[in-house]
Amino acid sequence: MKILVSSCLLGEDVKYDGGNNSIALNPKVSFSLKELFMDILCENEIYSFCPEVSGGLKTPRTPAEIVKRDKPFIVQTQNGEDVTINFLLGAKKALDLCIEEDIKVALLKANSPSCGNIKTYDGTFTNTLIESQGLSAKLLKENGITVFNEEELKELSKFIKTNK
Ligand code: SF4
Repeated sequence: MKILVSSCLLGEDVKYDGGNNSIALNPKVSFSLKELFMDILCENEIYSFCPEVSGGLKTPRTPAEIVKRDKPFIVQTQNGEDVTINFLLGAKKALDLCIEEDIKVALLKANSPSCGNIKTYDGTFTNTLIESQGLSAKLLKENGITVFNEEELKELSKFIKTNK
């Protein structure tokens, strides 16, 4: 199965601070989950994608949060710079890739203002998570793509088995 995966989860240094969110090398992730992750990588066709980099943002970059969640969306950095267009562009490119390659499922980084599928930070830069989706995750879901995060590897594995 074709799966879109957040590049940072694969260990690519695209995170805002110049690092990554590697699942395989994260000491906090259990060995059995790492094994499951590696099975998913080896048994499927993986498309690595970072919406923020694809939207034209540099790495490292100032962290950003969604400050307005209804259209027109507003995404700002901690310094007050408006980066909404970069986030929208990244989301559109993610969707375009899924349509072009007929990708129906994505594994995206939890809590990110682009990739978060369930929660994101609330826009106050106080480390406060709320029920809300990142702009890429939201656009993908609105277009019928099923989105999981790295805390839902078992659910993703089940999805793959039942949709083969
Ligand atoms: Fe990872 Fe998504 Fe943030 Fe890129 S935009 S660094 S893929 S969470």
